[in-house]
Amino acid sequence: MTDRRLVSATERVFNFSPGPAVLPLPVLERAREEMLSLPGVGISVLEISHRSPAFDRILEETLQELRGLVGIGNDHEVVLLQGGASLQFSMVPMNLLRGVNRPADSIITGTWGATGLKEARREGKVHVAWDGAATHYDRLPAPDEIKLSTNPAYVHMTSNETIQGVQWKNEPEVGDAPLVCDCSSDFLSRPIDISKYGLVYACAQKNAGIAGVTAVIIRKDLLERSRDDLPSMLDYRTHVKNDSRPNTPPVFAVYIFGLVCRWVRENMGGLASMARHNVAKAQLLYDVIDASGGFFSGHARPDCRSDMNVTFHLPNEALEQEFISCAAQRGLVELKGHRSVGGIRASIYNAMPVPGVECLRDCMVDFQSAHASQAGLKTQS
Ligand SMILES: *Cc1c(COP(=O)(O)O)cnc(C)c1O
Repeated sequence: MTDRRLVSATERVFNFSPGPAVLPLPVLERAREEMLSLPGVGISVLEISHRSPAFDRILEETLQELRGLVGIGNDHEVVLLQGGASLQFSMVPMNLLRGVNRPADSIITGTWGATGLKEARREGKVHVAWDGAATHYDRLPAPDEIKLSTNPAYVHMTSNETIQGVQWKNEPEVGDAPLVCDCSSDFLSRPIDISKYGLVYACAQKNAGIAGVTAVIIRKDLLERSRDDLPSMLDYRTHVKNDSRPNTPPVFAVYIFGLVCRWVRENMGGLASMARHNVAKAQLLYDVIDASGGFFSGHARPDCRSDMNVTFHLPNEALEQEFISCAAQRGLVELKGHRSVGGIRASIYNAMPVPGVECLRDCMVDFQSAHASQAGLKTQS
C-alpha cells in the first residue's frame, strides 16, 4: 500500500472533495510563507490595497500566466469576476441573449447545465438541443442527436459535469454559432483550443484555486452584444475596460489563482503534460471499476467518463457507507457522492497527487476482496 505520509511531512489527508478542493502543496506553502508579509511589500496579500503597485503586479502576472498557459490570443479578452460560475449562468444570457431575437441553444449533460438553463430562460428564448436527463446524465449525445436551432445566438455546453462525472473529450460541432462553455471543473486540467470558443468561464475553486474568483474568456466581437441598459457590474464591458478592477476584486483569490497557474506551468509542465497526468490518475480508478465484475459500477458510460470526478456505486448503500468509513480510516476523505446521484464520487483534480489516487485504488481493491463474497460477487484478482 502507498504510504500517504510520503506526500508531505504534515498531517494532511487526501481530500477528494468536489470543491472547494485540494490545492497544490507548493501553492499552499508559498501562500503560508507570504501570509504575513509579501516580500518587498511588508504587508499580507489579505490586507493589500487593490490599487497598490504590488497588487498591480499580482494581477498582471496572474493574467499573463493564464494567457500563456491556456494559449489565449488577441481575439479574446480575459476578465476575473466574482459571483462564481453561478453568476455566469445569468451574465452570459444577459450579455449575449438580451435583445437578440433568436434562441440560445443548450446541450444539457448534467446538473450544472440544467441549472444554467433555468437562469438563461429568465433572459430570453432558449432551445434545448439535447438533454440527457432520461438516462440520469450518464452519457454525452452522439453528434446526430444534437438538434441545434437554425441560427442560435450561442450554444452552451458544460465541458465536465462535476456531479455526474461526464466529460466531453472534444467540442461538439456547432457551425458558426459561438460556443459558450462552463469549464468550471476541468479548467486548466488539459489543453483547450480557445479559438473554437466564443466564451469560456470557470470558477476557480474546483481545479484552479479558491472560491471567490471566476475567469471569463470572451471573444472580443461578442462584447458588442452587451446593451447599455445592463447594470454596469453585470456588463462584461465594464470589467474589460477596468482590467477586472471596476471595484474591489477578491485580491487573495486572484493571488492564489496566479500561483496555481504558475504551478501548472513550472511544476507540472503545462497543460498537455497536466492532461497526461490526469488521464493516468483517472485510469488507475477506472481500471479497478472495469475489472471488478460489477462490484463497482461507474455512473458515466465508459466513453464519456470524467478524468476529474470519478463517480461509481457499490452493490448497495450499506456497503457504500462502509466503504466511505474504511477510506476515511486510511486518510481518504470527502468521497460521498452528490445526493442526487448517490454512491461515491472521487474528485481527482490537478492537485490530487498520484499517491492519493493509488491509496484510493488500493482501498477499493481491498474492500472488494473483503466484501465481494458477502455481496455474491467475484473477487478481483
Ligand atoms: C461548481 C460548479 C458550478 C457552480 O460554481 P459556483 O462558483 O459555486 O457558482 C457551476 N458549474 C460547474 C460545472 C461546477 O462544477
